[in-house]
Amino acid sequence: MRLSQSFYKTLKEIPKDARIPSHQLMFRSGMIQQLSSGIYNYLPLALRSIRKIEKIIREELDSRGCEEVLMPAVQPASLWQESGRWDLYGDLLLRFKDRKGNDYCMGPTHEEVITDMVRRNLKSWKQLPWNLYQIQGKFRDEFRPRFGLMRGREFIMKDAYSFDVDVESAKKSYWKMHEAYTAIFSRCGVRFRAVDAATGEIGGDMSQEFQVLASSGEDLILSCDSCNYAANIEKAVTTSTGGTPDETAFKALETVDTPGQKTIEEVSSFLGAEASGFLKSLVYESDSKPVLVLIAGDRDVNESKLQAALGSGVLRMASNTLVEKTMGTSPGYVGPVGVSSEVFVVADLSVTRGINWISGANEKDKHIRNVNLRRDFNPDKVIDIAFAAAGDSCPKCSGGKLEEHRGIEVGQVFYLGNKYSKMMDCSFLDEEGESQPAEMGCYGIGVGRTMAAAIEQNHDENGIIWPVPIAPWEVVVLPLQLNDEAVVEAAETIYESFRMAGIDTMIDDRNERAGFKFKDADLIGYPVQVVLGGRSVAAGNAEVKFRESGEKSEMPLDDVVVVVRDWILERRQGGAE
Ligand code: ATP
Ligand code: MG
Repeated sequence: MRLSQSFYKTLKEIPKDARIPSHQLMFRSGMIQQLSSGIYNYLPLALRSIRKIEKIIREELDSRGCEEVLMPAVQPASLWQESGRWDLYGDLLLRFKDRKGNDYCMGPTHEEVITDMVRRNLKSWKQLPWNLYQIQGKFRDEFRPRFGLMRGREFIMKDAYSFDVDVESAKKSYWKMHEAYTAIFSRCGVRFRAVDAATGEIGGDMSQEFQVLASSGEDLILSCDSCNYAANIEKAVTTSTGGTPDETAFKALETVDTPGQKTIEEVSSFLGAEASGFLKSLVYESDSKPVLVLIAGDRDVNESKLQAALGSGVLRMASNTLVEKTMGTSPGYVGPVGVSSEVFVVADLSVTRGINWISGANEKDKHIRNVNLRRDFNPDKVIDIAFAAAGDSCPKCSGGKLEEHRGIEVGQVFYLGNKYSKMMDCSFLDEEGESQPAEMGCYGIGVGRTMAAAIEQNHDENGIIWPVPIAPWEVVVLPLQLNDEAVVEAAETIYESFRMAGIDTMIDDRNERAGFKFKDADLIGYPVQVVLGGRSVAAGNAEVKFRESGEKSEMPLDDVVVVVRDWILERRQGGAE
């Protein structure tokens, strides 16, 4: 391609809301344009990279027996009503009516449509397993679209769905996709980790996310410093309990006045005590019933763990009115002592690790000291409902400690079980002629987010440093003086030879100053720049610059194509750890 003819423009100024490097660089290098909040035009440079990522995905999935399909973006509400998600999915779902008044939505994901598609073809166990995928535009009406393609409202996703006869083969399909994802992201040239993940509204009981490690990542990951345990903070397990407490150290209950002191910070400074000595007592509403939740004052409740522990459909903090009605006091003074047996009480494991707690006294302006588990309160459940934190013991090995990293979720695999197949009657006749619901898995990759994450991990102050496998163009040829015939001829010959050698090559044939061309080349991030200046060409040479290392070498014009081609081919298969 000739840059002089290319539809692109690099920009100096960056939009105010572009706060992370990938968003700024994609905008400055003319890869994307914003059409509306979270909705983008993909310009040629971006689309070339996206197509390469898609090609890698297709190769890895096709080679594992997956088949590509294409489902519509617009989905009828009736399917979502069948799965029960029309009411549960919330505001992320963009809903609208057609001219006849029928309800539709823009697909944020395709479990419903694929389950319907499969149930129409599925009759016998002999047909399975099936693994179907598509690469398609999704729409999610995100609360805060941001960071460019990282969190858009319309975005490109690869979604795949597996259908199996039983749990054992469904788990095989799951691990095969896990392996495919590992291959895909290493071929894309990004550094990533697979981590245990929560399943959220999609359901199922086994899931992992593929996280690209980057300081701007929105996700927090905890990993063990001595074994391979790694989990999203949403899922990371806290294990250790305090064993049996020493009851002889229990002190007598003592009610203290704490006028106007409600938060743990206020009460702890008022009483001169550490936050870790408080029993945080929170009232939640789980499927319209109040639940008292207890946790050590220096820990936070992980609501997705709590929701799973309670098996609740809808979980939220109780309103002040419900707290008053249930506990007889306002939220700042709630505690576990003397709570009515009607109220379900859940305590986090951290509650077993201390004695002589301070808690609210269920009376305005009062707290109680020396509150103790079993003697003063008896939770209905003692279970892990806390967020794990850096420094916690590893739940998998003995002796390891958890460390914190930031990550960008580029993909996720879920074992779904038969949630959708049961709700939507997607079943087959087994060997005994009995009807069985299919065992399902679903698997997503954010294609645009993967490209953005690669830039987030591979850039410097001058611009993008593309990993070769997903670079829009692998090489740029830079003739510096267009009025020097020898330069132009050498550049055109080399450009043509690269093209013949199958290398994706751009020639910057614009009549611009050398400095201007270098700046753009660094910004766009071509892995290799072949520079043809008057003096070196006269000496029969070209200068080759490698974007990542910044290394430059002068070599004979005749050698350039072979040296650069070999360098590129060695890196096309990716392989960052
Ligand atoms: P997140 O937690 O970031 O909102 P998610 O877990 O809801 O994402 P999934 O349903 O697992 O997303 O979707 C599969 C993949 O699609 C994600 O791993 C991510 O790479 C991508 N993705 C999800 N939401 C967006 C978005 N708003 N913009 C771009 N990519 C997205
Ligand atoms: Mg996800």
